[in-house]
Amino acid sequence: MTQKMHAAVVEAFGQPLVMKELAIPSPGPGQILVKTEACGVCHTDLHAVDGDWPLKPTLPFIPGHEAIGIVVALGAGVTAVKKGERVGVPWLHSACGHCEFCLAAREPVCADAEFGGYTQNGGFAEYIIADPNYVAHIPTNLTPQEAAPLICAGITTYKGIKETQAKPGEWIVISGIGGLGHLGVQYAKAMGLQVCAVDIDDGKLAHAQQLGADAIVNAKAADAVEAVKKLTGGGAHGVLITAPSLVAFKQAVGMTRKWGTCVLVGLPPGEFPTPLFDVVANCITIRGSFVGNRIDMAEALAFAAKGQVKADIELQPLSAINDVFERLKKGEVPSRVVIDFTTH
Ligand code: NAD
Ligand code: ZN
Ligand code: ZN
Repeated sequence: MTQKMHAAVVEAFGQPLVMKELAIPSPGPGQILVKTEACGVCHTDLHAVDGDWPLKPTLPFIPGHEAIGIVVALGAGVTAVKKGERVGVPWLHSACGHCEFCLAAREPVCADAEFGGYTQNGGFAEYIIADPNYVAHIPTNLTPQEAAPLICAGITTYKGIKETQAKPGEWIVISGIGGLGHLGVQYAKAMGLQVCAVDIDDGKLAHAQQLGADAIVNAKAADAVEAVKKLTGGGAHGVLITAPSLVAFKQAVGMTRKWGTCVLVGLPPGEFPTPLFDVVANCITIRGSFVGNRIDMAEALAFAAKGQVKADIELQPLSAINDVFERLKKGEVPSRVVIDFTTH
């Protein structure tokens, strides 16, 4: 008899996920089977379920790309990991390994990259197939639940902060203090930056202050851009936009200092107007950033292993997934929900 697993499946865009019992997949050559312990719920999962982006996943699929678990079976030829190891199955599920981008350690933009919980089934299931060459290696002093948000929200904000090229002592704006941003504030402080947190929710801003933000600005205030400029003496050297809202993008470009860099990681569908004269005449760089590479992953996890960064998590069972998505959509999740497979 084939063994079964529970999984939350997207069968139609914009509809609730369907709880199913599916056959546990078996790893093909070069693949591994991971038994899920925990999986964070990222706002990207919401975009995936709603079919928000131009490149849509093929239905049906299992979302979830902050999955941590134990390797329980190896396909033929696998030597990179051993049975019993704790690994993370991230957004960057696999890449070709030999194109110009892979060779330059820019594998998230590999044309043949596969994305966990998007083009490959993800972590809202009791078992996941993974590529042993692209899994994250989880430090032994982190629990699977606290490690989960680090393998997407953590790596993405850590890499995005690096991409701003802001130096210790300089100012960074983190716009959006949710799952990504609450970790971004902590990475930025650990990297020696002065942090101005921006959000539309006073509760999230108060949380940012508890996490070490030096200043807070509510983005709903009419003078939010001017307030940031005043606080930072002319705008932030680096700006990281995690907010899944187009309004935040135009605002954030305005908060960027002359010669500063505004890094876009939030992915609301659509476009935003760019004030060309201001960008050109102030020599502002606007750049996109997409998760990070494998060394960024190891570095992002190391901050947490040393106690410099800690995800604030709320544990929920897999059966609560549709309720969690509803709350995430309404901005009612304080930081990160992690689906816990160990006790539920
Ligand atoms: P989240 O829902 O946990 O947090 C979003 C935060 O933005 C909330 O605190 C919300 O109050 C705040 N916000 C909403 N409107 C705002 C505004 N106008 N100004 C300032 N703040 C505002 O979401 P998350 O999981 O942190 O993900 C955020 C975005 O990042 C999503 O679009 C997601 O797809 C994207 N993402 C991108 C990457 C990447 O590699 N580029 C990786 C992960 C997630
Ligand atoms: Zn994510
Ligand atoms: Zn490649």
